[in-house]
Amino acid sequence: MPAGAAGDYDVVILGGGSGGYACALRSAELGLSVALVEKGRLGGTCLHQGCIPTKALLHAAEVADVAREGASFGVKTTFESVDMSGVNAYKDGVISRLYKGLQGLVKAAKIDYVEGSGVLDGPHTVVVGDRRITGRNVVLATGSYAKSLPGLEIGGRIMTSEQALAIDHVPARVVVLGGGVIGVEFASVFKSFGSEVTIVEALPRLVAAEDEAISKQLERSFRKRKIAFKTGVRFAGATQQGDVVTVSLESGETIEADLLLVAVGRGPVTEGLGYEDAGVTVDRGFVPTDERLRTSAAGVYAVGDIVPGLQLAHRGFAQGIFVAEEIAGLAPAAIDEMGIPRVTYCDPEIASIGLTEVQAREKHGDVATYEYNLGGNGKSQILGTQGFVKLVRQVDGPVVGVHMIGARMGEQIGEAQLIVNWEAHPEDVAGLIHAHPTQNEALGEAHLALAGKPLHAHA
Ligand SMILES: Cc1cc2nc3c(=O)[nH]c(=O)nc-3n(C[C@H](O)[C@H](O)[C@H](O)COP(=O)(O)OP(=O)(O)OC[C@H]3O[C@@H](n4cnc5c(N)ncnc54)[C@H](O)[C@@H]3O)c2cc1C
Repeated sequence: MPAGAAGDYDVVILGGGSGGYACALRSAELGLSVALVEKGRLGGTCLHQGCIPTKALLHAAEVADVAREGASFGVKTTFESVDMSGVNAYKDGVISRLYKGLQGLVKAAKIDYVEGSGVLDGPHTVVVGDRRITGRNVVLATGSYAKSLPGLEIGGRIMTSEQALAIDHVPARVVVLGGGVIGVEFASVFKSFGSEVTIVEALPRLVAAEDEAISKQLERSFRKRKIAFKTGVRFAGATQQGDVVTVSLESGETIEADLLLVAVGRGPVTEGLGYEDAGVTVDRGFVPTDERLRTSAAGVYAVGDIVPGLQLAHRGFAQGIFVAEEIAGLAPAAIDEMGIPRVTYCDPEIASIGLTEVQAREKHGDVATYEYNLGGNGKSQILGTQGFVKLVRQVDGPVVGVHMIGARMGEQIGEAQLIVNWEAHPEDVAGLIHAHPTQNEALGEAHLALAGKPLHAHA
């Protein structure tokens, strides 16, 4: 069927995760007829194996820490233990309520929800079992899977995040392979639950995609929390014997653990789905697109984790909405990847938007930076957290990067993203009044300082 020709539907979407279902809902809102094909559970990785369950675990971890630390606030509490069946019931309850809500939204939008594994058969047809579903447009949204390393087989006590989310006990010793976002979040959870944790990272620093100052502060905080980490070391292999996993490093060192969590990144789910036969270019497993999210095959779009770039649920939502609006002829503005906020929910939390200092120097030459220490922020002192808000601005120009670390700093990303995306100058933000005492004030104070009129700032 040539592009633009009629099909059963205006839009056929393969994959019902963040990217796919957002596209389905927005398409339906715009009056387009939609089929959404999903082989697992509506909501995909984010809802069932990603964002939501991990953040529930992180919240349970925070509760455990609060119970331990009550005395430092003058409240007599005792921490007894973590009951994983209770934690899992709480986590699954959250997922199940959101899942029901999402199913309700899809049903109410009159989206044709097709259960089953789909394969692309030409640019306008998705085949599910013996059913051929044709669409004027097809949107590929098949997401990602947890990768491993060559020779490292997942099974038993060697797990990815998927299995780790379902464990029924707190392991005494955990090695986390990978110090990226997923690795440091799990390390944080396990430590709070009572495990002894060691992170092994081949790159020279934890959360290497963040500004260097953030990595340094996280490493300082993790040291304080007694989360061990080895950076710049390469993994050599792992063996399982009885209840023990022995992890060996290229340095010759070995570490014994009860669980090895493999968090070395996520690969695109594109193999064996007929993409290349349908004329869709696949590059190292990913589906490259242009800025309108068009693949190399006319009428076929791609969204979410299969598209090279940040693997984040809200990027998937935004791309799904973008494609729906594009198909409906609304000509939406292209998505700027640098304008997407990033939050890592370990303790302390990390939140960032825009360019790191190094990236800003590469792009803009000389830049000005300022680090506002949370030590001067009343609410952060009340919470007993440490960290900072770092701003990167073009000299005499707008703020191009905001990098924050400290308890609850994820909640500050909303304002930070407006500042960067609206190309605000520090002087613009300095004129806005931030409520006292909030952690949000730290963002205001950083801008006051960069605008040359610091208030609670120590040199
Ligand atoms: C542990 C973990 C924590 C995370 N935490 C966060 C976070 O805090 N914040 C954040 O923004 N992001 C987070 N992410 C990333 C986020 O989950 C992904 O970016 C997001 O889910 C990507 O959406 P997607 O639609 O591209 O793919 P997915 O959510 O993976 O959905 C793809 C869907 O396609 C279906 N599918 C695949 N092949 C077929 C087929 N052939 N036929 C039919 N259906 C098919 C799958 O079953 C799946 O439901 C996390 C991920 C993990 C693993």
